Amino acid sequence: MSSRKNNQLAYLIACLCVALLAGTLAMALCRPHKAEEPKEKPATQEVVVMDKMQNESPEEKEAELVPEAETDQPDPRNAEFALDPARTEWSYDESDTKVVYLTFDDGPSENTQAVLDILDEYGIKAAFFVTAINPDYLDMISECYRRGHTIGMHTYSHDYAQVYASYDAYWEDLDAIAAIVEDQIGYVPCFIRFPGGSSNTVSANYCTGIMSTLAPDVLDRGYQYYDWDASCGDGAKHTADELVEATKADTSYGYTKIVFLMHDGANKETTVEALPRIIEYFKSEGYTFAPLDRSTPAPHHGIGN
Ligand SMILES: [Zn+2]
Repeated sequence: MSSRKNNQLAYLIACLCVALLAGTLAMALCRPHKAEEPKEKPATQEVVVMDKMQNESPEEKEAELVPEAETDQPDPRNAEFALDPARTEWSYDESDTKVVYLTFDDGPSENTQAVLDILDEYGIKAAFFVTAINPDYLDMISECYRRGHTIGMHTYSHDYAQVYASYDAYWEDLDAIAAIVEDQIGYVPCFIRFPGGSSNTVSANYCTGIMSTLAPDVLDRGYQYYDWDASCGDGAKHTADELVEATKADTSYGYTKIVFLMHDGANKETTVEALPRIIEYFKSEGYTFAPLDRSTPAPHHGIGN
């Protein structure tokens, strides 16, 4: 072999070596790093959301926190739950699924935030029948709504003497809370609860027969009133243990659907304390939880005045 041919061969071998090396390097760089891939999709989504939040300006973060009603996004609850005087037909969920509809009256108050946090921990949506008794907490109405709960109206003053003074007085009071709720969530909801329930007799002290007139009239105007199937008994002062026991006693009949009465008003700290155990109890009995909507069976007590 001539030395020229030897040189050519050496050159060729050198080229091949370089090509091989480059190929190996490229493969190593391109190989997917499986071990670094996220194992679960939710984790990936969480990371993406967090990164997004971190990269946003304060204004953008603020925009994500405003109630849906104040964004350009259509709010399906607005279309479904807004008072519509023409919508007076109701059809209820009659399935065999065991559902508890937790409802909280007399708030918002200093206890509402704790209730919301517990509900979030369990991933439960509920309903709040609101008043304006505690003006400092009115913005909690939109907070409840933003977290996916249903807003109903319980009256503005919750003062029996005022609310049930006359037929007109009732509507005046309801319209006052309606204006506040509309300001908070963008519409007037169709769900209401009478102070004391429709069966209350205390209203007779102020206006004889008022409930007999009001109950059918609210329905004619497109509202639905929700009394309750059972209660934890927190209308009166009780310890958390007593509230849990009262819950078990009041639901022992095992209804499939239970509209359950609780309170998130001022001085209802024991309700907050009992809430996790009440939730656990319903779960152990095979119930799921849902917020009130137009398909929720509406318990109506017998009219007592
Ligand atoms: Zn009440």
